[in-house]
Formats: sequence, C-alpha cells, structure tokens
Amino acid sequence: METQTTAKPKTDGELEAYSVASDVAGMKIIFVNVFFVGEPRPGSPWVLVDAGLSLGAGSIRQKAAELFGENNPPKAILLTHGHFDHVGALEPLLKEWTDVPIYAHPLEMPYLRGKSNYPPPDPAVGGGAMAYMSWMFPTGPYDFGDRVRPLPEDGSVPELNGWRWIHTPGHAPGHVSFFREGDRVLLAGDAFTATNQNSAFSVMTQKEELHGPPAYFTIDWQAAKRSIQALAALNPTSAGTGHGKAIRGIQLPQMLDDLVAHFDSREVPEGGRYAKQPAHTDEEGIVDMPSPVSYHVARAVGIGLIVGTVMYLFGGRRRD
Ligand SMILES: [Zn+2]
Ligand SMILES: [Zn+2]
Repeated sequence: METQTTAKPKTDGELEAYSVASDVAGMKIIFVNVFFVGEPRPGSPWVLVDAGLSLGAGSIRQKAAELFGENNPPKAILLTHGHFDHVGALEPLLKEWTDVPIYAHPLEMPYLRGKSNYPPPDPAVGGGAMAYMSWMFPTGPYDFGDRVRPLPEDGSVPELNGWRWIHTPGHAPGHVSFFREGDRVLLAGDAFTATNQNSAFSVMTQKEELHGPPAYFTIDWQAAKRSIQALAALNPTSAGTGHGKAIRGIQLPQMLDDLVAHFDSREVPEGGRYAKQPAHTDEEGIVDMPSPVSYHVARAVGIGLIVGTVMYLFGGRRRD
C-alpha cells in the first residue's frame, strides 16, 4: 500500500544515542562528547561544538566527512569551555582546517590564549576513579592565539541561526550552553551531565538520571546550581551534554528541576576544595582560590612530570 511516510522527519528512535536532533549529531570520544550541528548531507554547512580528546581528531574528521562530505570543514568551532577533554583535538584539527575560527566566552580566553591555568582539579571530591586521578589532568593553558574569538555579546551564535548562547558558569568560569528556541534543543556542555542506564534511549524512563557537572573541575558550586536553574527555565526537550548519552523528552525540564532540588545534598561534594568557597577568576585568569585539601598537597610533588605526560597524551602540546 502506498503511504506518504517517506518524507517523515526522523523520529527519536532513529537518532543515535548521543545525538540530540536530526541535525545535531553527537559522538563520544572515550568519555567525552562532541557535537556536529548541520543538515547531514554532502556540502552542507556545519559547526563543531567542542573538540574532545586529542586522540579523537581522526574520528572527528571521519564523522564530519560521513555527515557533510569530504573537504568540507566546519564554518566554526564553538567551545562550551576549555577543559582539556573539550579542546584536546583542536590543535591537530586546526592544522587541517586552517581558516576555521573558534568561539568561546571571554572568561575562558585566559585558558585558551596561554595566559592562565585553570584552578587545579580537586581529587577530594571523591566519587570514583576519574576524580581520584583528576589531580593529574592538564589544566592548560592552551594557546590558540587569534584563532579563538569571543562569542558575540548579543547572545547570538556565529554560523548558527536560531541558536543563542547562555553563560552557565560554575564548572568553568566562562562555561556556556547553546540553545535553539525553535525545537528547544540544548547543548549543555558540562553544566550538567547525563547517564542513561537504559539501553533504550527513545523514551525517557525513570531510570535516567541527570547529574551535576563533573565534580573534580567544578570551581563554584552555587554558580553551577544557578546555571542549571537557568537551563531548566528554557524548557529544553532535548539535551546533549559533555558526558553521557543524549536526554530527549518532555520530562527534561522536570528532571532539571529535580536535579536543582537535590543539588546541595547529592551533587556538591562534602569537603571538596571548592565546595564552600569558590575560586575567583576574571578575564586574566585566576584571582584567588581556596587552599587545597591537605592530602592533596603531598601529591603536588612530581605533579609537573605527570601533568606533562598526560598533556602530551591527551591534551596536545602547548604552543610556545
Ligand atoms: Zn569540563
Ligand atoms: Zn567535560
């Protein structure tokens, strides 16, 4: 029987687990997600959101070619923030994509233009191996020079009509999220994260949980909470985050409200370095920060060597 369903738009069920809309494809690189925004057809203009780990550069190029054709670089690269797991592949990608600009919030510039390290990660937050190892994660700075530009002050997003950026600090000082009002699609970076314990992803289930930002790097927990409140107020119905599968469904704002309601008791790490007092930063980088939790200090011995190794392996090298 002839039907008229051939032109039907893709349903959720056809989207991959990390994708948030038919023109917003997500891809996981080891443990962090990047997003490709654009109609998936050869020659289509597109934008890359975040750049994952350095060893993901080849996968990003390959996926881009699959979605948008060969020799079709993005119009821009947008960064939610500059942590090593979100900018690692930039250096190799920029060598190939020689004219592609990067955009980030002005408060992330010190870490992307070689001025300042991020406040150090806090292994005292607990919660698992990632946190425990976090003391050796690279904190930058990277130096992308003039390739990285500030996002427009009016909230518009370069090369992405219909989207706007929202300042969502707390996890990083200039952390931003990207939102498309038309279909309420949100790219939240690390403002909050998602784990989907269900293999089925098309329908939201009660087993799906949202979490706060990755704790070891979060430097201002009250700001992080306010940021999630601001995102909940947007009523998003589909969200991709830096870590975990995409969350899609009309329950998402309620899940965000729930996350906010339990944020202090469930997400803020007891006794963490930044739990009671945030680190302060400005356009130049770190202004002041709370003292490290004591056992952390002992580990500072030899940190340079290990940070250097990890930066080389995962974060790319600094341009000197
Ligand atoms: Zn981060
Ligand atoms: Zn992250």
